[in-house]
Amino acid sequence: MSSKILYCKNCDKYTLKETCSCGKKTVTTRPAKFNPEDKWGKYRREYKKQQQAL
Ligand SMILES: [Zn+2]
Repeated sequence: MSSKILYCKNCDKYTLKETCSCGKKTVTTRPAKFNPEDKWGKYRREYKKQQQAL
């Protein structure tokens, strides 16, 4: 069973349909655990690794 939740920006509503009842295409919502800082965490780890190698 798919638990993909879609969102209509036009109606500000969540739906499971790829096209909202208003006719607009819905967008996939990001998982709640998505953290925008993760991409920087990757760089921080790389930096730390380089520091230890010196
Ligand atoms: Zn809509």
